[in-house]
Amino acid sequence: MPETRNVIIIGSGPAGLTAAIYASRANLKPLVIEGIEAGGQLMLTTMVENWPGFRDGIMGPDLMAEMRTQSERFGAEIIQGNVTKVDLCSRPIVVETSEATYTAKSLIIATGASARLLGLPSERGLMGHGVSTCATCDGYFFRGLEIAVVGGGDSAMEEAVFLTRFASKVTVVHRRETLRASKIMQDKARANPKIEWLLNYEVVEIKDHGKGEVTAMVVKSNKTGETKDVPVAGVFVAIGHTPNTALFRGQIELDQNGYIVTHDGSKTSVPAVFACGDVQDHIYRQAVTAAGSGCMAAIDAEHYLDHIPEHLASV
Ligand code: NAP
Repeated sequence: MPETRNVIIIGSGPAGLTAAIYASRANLKPLVIEGIEAGGQLMLTTMVENWPGFRDGIMGPDLMAEMRTQSERFGAEIIQGNVTKVDLCSRPIVVETSEATYTAKSLIIATGASARLLGLPSERGLMGHGVSTCATCDGYFFRGLEIAVVGGGDSAMEEAVFLTRFASKVTVVHRRETLRASKIMQDKARANPKIEWLLNYEVVEIKDHGKGEVTAMVVKSNKTGETKDVPVAGVFVAIGHTPNTALFRGQIELDQNGYIVTHDGSKTSVPAVFACGDVQDHIYRQAVTAAGSGCMAAIDAEHYLDHIPEHLASV
């Protein structure tokens, strides 16, 4: 069994890597287990224009690469791997990946949130074959084709506008009349001549599973119940995210939507366990707020370790 760490950080998005920068600069030699979606949601983004300090913007993956190098410079150890099990009650805390078991005096959870899906069998079957949750990753495959984006929030607007770079037409399908997106994002999308709208419609089926490619979506009117086929070559699902907390369920307090409940900064219901970023924030969900909360988690972990109860100090 490897030595017990001062702090293990699970997740390597802006929250996890900012926690790693602060914890390593506090000489805590953190171990970061990066997870399957290494770098987090910014790896699926193009230009980030609201990260302070870059007046011309910075590409999401470039920003994450900088954060990673910065944390390693101060001594953070980052390993590939996905955590499969944790024991938050034992002391030291136990964190298992499929390759190894680690122990730590404190834990920072920065596992973020993952894209939500519509729940159609055809959606899963055609994922990567015309169905996508990442316009940045897959938009290029749809050059000159007609595609759809599902959702009415900022993500859907952002993806729809981005996809007009490639597609000949982008149809936004939203289940209500009113969009949820901020006015500025709505205006941008509405002003784009390549974007068409199917409001008050839901996608009830994606064809053609038999062919192994997307040929059409079946949409149903929420006003009349009528259904129709809309020929498209791709469907981008942009309907929000679910916090990645399945690992912790039953061991830590979660809210009704599955987000980790934090108090007094990044403290969770379990002593020595801190949470930061989208896994505990369903309101702001910005890279910069995730990074800020990562900083808080590292400082909170440092304070905890400074005042660690006597009987736990040696573990
Ligand atoms: P969101 O705001 O939760 O919006 C999700 C959208 O998907 C809603 O319009 C919702 O419809 C729809 N939806 C959810 N489940 C559905 C289902 N099963 N079937 C059909 N439609 C469904 O999520 P988001 O757009 O990912 O944004 C999340 C947060 O990130 C927001 O705070 C947003 O402001 C922020 N964000 C900001 C930017 C930016 O500023 N550049 C970019 C992206 C995201 P209803 O409206 O009917 O609920």
